[in-house]
Amino acid sequence: MALAYIGLGSNLEDPLAQVKRAFAELANIPQTSLLARSSIYSSHAVGPEQPDYINAVALLDTQLAPLALLDALQAIEQAHQRVRIQHWGPRTLDLDLLLYGDQIIAEERLRVPHPYLTQRSFVLYPLADITPTLQLPDGTPLAALLSRCPADGLLRLPSLA
Ligand code: AMP
Repeated sequence: MALAYIGLGSNLEDPLAQVKRAFAELANIPQTSLLARSSIYSSHAVGPEQPDYINAVALLDTQLAPLALLDALQAIEQAHQRVRIQHWGPRTLDLDLLLYGDQIIAEERLRVPHPYLTQRSFVLYPLADITPTLQLPDGTPLAALLSRCPADGLLRLPSLA
């Protein structure tokens, strides 16, 4: 079994509903359970001009190997009829494998920790909701990353119904 943190993001077609549905779908991945979910946030988009994002993080306990888990995440993205018009452009659902246990993976299809994890407030603050004492595989404490990452434009939404 491994603990895996998943980043969720959406800024098209009722993003809040997309993210809520995605939590349920993550819980249904075979050989996997949903242990925790962060608060839900809105954030300003990085990259081209586009609507604000809804973001959150989920913690999974899984028996799937990293690439099998990535396959499952991409199947969920497809089920949301993900629209990918441009790099960093708007999307109905983006699922990123942020951390998989303490593994460091550098494969063509999969890089873990996720390359943007250390700089993105919409990933770091939700991670801290779930595991404030988290450390990256190289030993960097999440708290140290947070202290260097202002929460500019990041808004925690009222708790999920
Ligand atoms: P994006 O839509 O910008 O999130 O990029 C998706 C692409 O990133 C896919 O082709 C994945 O194979 C690749 N990728 C590499 N590392 C990761 C990761 N940690 N989580 C999700 N996708 C990843």
